[in-house]
Amino acid sequence: MSRVACVKNQFVPLRGAQVSMLDRGYQFADGIYEVVTLWNGRLVDESPHLARMERSLAALEIPMPMSVRAIQIRIRELLRRHRLKNGLVYIQITRGEAMRNHLFTGEMTPIFTMCLLPARFPTSQEKSEGVRVITAPDQRWARCDIKSIALLPNMLTRMASYRAGAKEAWQINAQGNITEGSLSNAYIVRADGVIQTHPADRSILGGIRREMVLKLAKQHGMALIEKPFTLDDVKRATEAFMSSASSFVLPITTVDDITIGNGAVGHVTEKLMTLYEAQVLAIPRVM
Ligand code: PLP
Repeated sequence: MSRVACVKNQFVPLRGAQVSMLDRGYQFADGIYEVVTLWNGRLVDESPHLARMERSLAALEIPMPMSVRAIQIRIRELLRRHRLKNGLVYIQITRGEAMRNHLFTGEMTPIFTMCLLPARFPTSQEKSEGVRVITAPDQRWARCDIKSIALLPNMLTRMASYRAGAKEAWQINAQGNITEGSLSNAYIVRADGVIQTHPADRSILGGIRREMVLKLAKQHGMALIEKPFTLDDVKRATEAFMSSASSFVLPITTVDDITIGNGAVGHVTEKLMTLYEAQVLAIPRVM
């Protein structure tokens, strides 16, 4: 099947789709991205993803290239052209094309690109047995809350975890706190049953899955605290898990060489996986 991309306002074959060398995304990583999961014909949490996209743009003073409604129409057109039920709708918006200069102006026309990428959802074995993550230094900047296309530290950290045969790397900052993964949010469950995750401040990307996990936990009376945790807390934890657009809620049973709890997927994680799946199944299909 030949994939299609939306570049500015036009649908073109993905292979060969182009933007200018002067695009500020290419020159300065001056742009943001957003990823909406298409899962069994359903767009998962589309509105919160598009709301975060608006927040990221506002933080960088990049105007919206078109209305949210217009983006939603283009997403559906992209899906119609692929006729796939699973994938990741990848949207990237840069400040636009301009002669290279650190300074920017409000006159620049943002460039919108979008495509449907293949999704690699967790396998049933990963979901039933849990995965292993390693830890790595958090080498990122002070505005991790912006979903910026500048992903060098995330990329290098993910590469390190891949080379170590692990699913993800949990990043540890200068204070010794685990902030989040290279492409996912991080959680532990304490011995007293409380779910603990780093607060959504500027040192993490406030994941949309994270937002939903916390909402579901609150709705179902599960105890939670948004507070940084350390590797020592991980050693004492009974459960651990991660969340992201493509992994949903995924259990973690090993961190470095630490076996979490009894090494099996815990009840709290299982409950959140079940609740999230039920919520996703209630979303009307678009495909
Ligand atoms: N943290 C980082 C650094 C990420 O890159 C991502 C996703 O790309 C997440 C967390 C999870 O966010 P979401 O749940 O919106 O996919």
